[in-house]
Amino acid sequence: MNKIIIAGPCTFASYDEIKKIASLLKERGIEYFRAGTFKMRTDPNSFQGLRDEGMEMLLKLKEELDIKIVTELTTIEQVKKYGDKIDIIQIGTRNMYNYELLKEVGKTKTPVILKRNFAASYNEWIKAAEYIKREGNTNIILCERGVRNTISNETRNILDLQAIPYIKNNTDYKIIIDPSHASGLSYMVESMSCAALTAGADGLLIEVHYDPSQSLCDSKETIDFDTLDKIIEFYKTM
Ligand code: PEP
Ligand code: MN
Repeated sequence: MNKIIIAGPCTFASYDEIKKIASLLKERGIEYFRAGTFKMRTDPNSFQGLRDEGMEMLLKLKEELDIKIVTELTTIEQVKKYGDKIDIIQIGTRNMYNYELLKEVGKTKTPVILKRNFAASYNEWIKAAEYIKREGNTNIILCERGVRNTISNETRNILDLQAIPYIKNNTDYKIIIDPSHASGLSYMVESMSCAALTAGADGLLIEVHYDPSQSLCDSKETIDFDTLDKIIEFYKTM
C-alpha cells in the first residue's frame, strides 16, 4: 500500500497533548503526525501556535515516539532553521503564492506538501510546485484542501475532487486530500476521505484529536479516533 495517512491536531497547547495523540496514531500504525506550531490564522487575535517552543516539542516527540513529523513552515528563516529537522514541510494555502518561500523549500532535501491556494487554478498550483522543483527538491506532494465556497456559507470551502484526476493526468506529482479544511465539518470527513481514496488520491491529511471539543483550533472539523478508525478500515481495503 503506498497511500499515505497523515493525521494529528490542527495545533496544540502542550507536550502531553501531542504525545497522547501521537501515541494513539502509532497504535493504529499511522507513521506521520501532523500539527501546526506556526499557525497562519485569519484573525490576528486568535491563537498563533506555540511557535519555536512548539517546534522544540515536535522534535522531542519525533525522538521519543519515533514518529514522522509534518508541520507548516511559514518563513524563509523557519525553513533554514527547521527544514532539515522535520520529515515533511507543509506549505499552507496562504503561502502557495509566496515564491521566495517556495524557492527556499526547494533548496532543502525534505519532502514538501504544497497546499493549493483556496482560489488557485490548477495551472497556478502546478507552477508554484515548479518553483520548488527548479531549486532541486523534486519530492513534492500536492494537497487539495478545498476551494473558496462562493455559493453558500454552510461549508467552509468546497472539496475539489476533480483535482485528483486532473493532477494524475497532467503531471507526475502525487496528490493527497485534506478533507478537514475542505468542508470544515467533522461529519463530512469520513465520506470525503473515502471518496478521495476511491478517486485515486495518494493519501489523506486529516485533523484528529482524542477530544475534538478540546482542540484549540478548528474543533468543528476535527474528528475523533472512532471516526479515524472507520477511515483506516476503508483505507485498508484499497
Ligand atoms: C493546516 O493544515 O493546518 C492548515 C492551516 O491548512 P490550510 O493551509 O490548508 O488552511
Ligand atoms: Mn486546521
